[in-house]
Amino acid sequence: MTTTTPAVPSVPSQAPDPASDPLAVLGAGVRVPLADGGETEYAALDYAASAPVLRQVWDDVAAYAPYYGSVHRGAGHLSRLSTRLFEESRETVARFLGCRPGDQVVFTRSTTDSLNLLAAAAPAGTRVLVFESEHHAALLPWRRRHDVTYLPVPRSPEEAVRTAERALRAAPSGPKLLCVTGASNVTGELWPVRELAAAARRHGARVVLDAAQLAPHRPVDLAALDVDWVAFSGHKLYAPFGSGVLAGRADWLRRAEPYLAGGGASRIVARRADGGVDVEWHHDEARHEAGSPNVIGAYAIASACRTLTKAGFDRLLRHEERLLTRLRAGLAAVPAVRPLSLFGPDAARVPVVSFTVDGWDGDAFARALSERHGIGVRSGLFCAQPLVRALLDDTGPVAGCDGPLQPVRVSFGAGTPTAHIDRLLRAVRELTE
Ligand code: PMP
Repeated sequence: MTTTTPAVPSVPSQAPDPASDPLAVLGAGVRVPLADGGETEYAALDYAASAPVLRQVWDDVAAYAPYYGSVHRGAGHLSRLSTRLFEESRETVARFLGCRPGDQVVFTRSTTDSLNLLAAAAPAGTRVLVFESEHHAALLPWRRRHDVTYLPVPRSPEEAVRTAERALRAAPSGPKLLCVTGASNVTGELWPVRELAAAARRHGARVVLDAAQLAPHRPVDLAALDVDWVAFSGHKLYAPFGSGVLAGRADWLRRAEPYLAGGGASRIVARRADGGVDVEWHHDEARHEAGSPNVIGAYAIASACRTLTKAGFDRLLRHEERLLTRLRAGLAAVPAVRPLSLFGPDAARVPVVSFTVDGWDGDAFARALSERHGIGVRSGLFCAQPLVRALLDDTGPVAGCDGPLQPVRVSFGAGTPTAHIDRLLRAVRELTE
């Protein structure tokens, strides 16, 4: 049997010119119809839902596609190549997240899937502490198997730490898990992850970080933050190919029943002499990756991790901060616009801004932005209903609006041109005049 190492696909010919923006995204120049019969270039300002694909990620996937093959299953050259790239993708993600020796990187479908996997893997009866303000993906998976303490929505990072500390102190003995978000998908505000993790440590609790909104904007380092697990989604990290990640401590994952039972997760399945079968499961990541893995999804995430690291988060941060300042200043000048905020105007934040508009239901406002100005934003309760309801109580009734109230959310990132922010501000002024 030959054992030569398969070749890695060569660099694609359509790779971006290194002198051009390494964080360029696809979609620039896409034209969309307007209600008046005209058309305009689409302004994608809904990155917090799903970000556009990085050009480099697209090119890497295109270069790999002809070499695509099954993972962990075939003896053929392309199967071995795909297996190698899949496992290398795991290593790339581990480096991107600052994983510790022994940590596992499990490829999942999404953040929601990752947190449900951890909920299934946590020892039965774990006391889970979670703020009511979390995204539903972080708020809801624990209820089936665990005792959940819902922490009240805090109004400052310091209050968040005090609240968590108090609840951790009062929690009964036994396994404890604190679930925290890195950045809010409603207000963009950053949460005091390091301080919350330190509080958890003081009380012997584990920590899982929902980095769905943080990872696309800031480096996430498990070891430096001292969190046990981190979850994120490829489609918010410029890699929309159906994969997500749960990375962190191996012990709970190794001891848990496989998330899905089936091929890939099982190492040995033996017939018993008395009938039936015995199963020995894998103890590494494969235990929770039953079925044929999404190798393109994993490869795309790894490509996004490499591209962001190479381009440098500093550069991305400067771009985002400049546009965020412009957006917030422009919105502040429109009296009908009322921004939603948990920690106040000076809180550090990623480029996610939600607001209500006097005289407008958010759904209608978002539709008008799309139909009249070619701008894509989101409206609604953003799968964080307790948080949005708490924030809406702050703003009080919206003038001229008696229907169910929905805020509007604007979010952006790599590749967003200044012109899109300016178009949005012009549109908001026009619609509120
Ligand atoms: N957490 C946060 C903070 C999010 O913003 C989202 C997506 N809106 C999720 C979790 C869930 O991500 P996904 O839909 O990719 O599972």
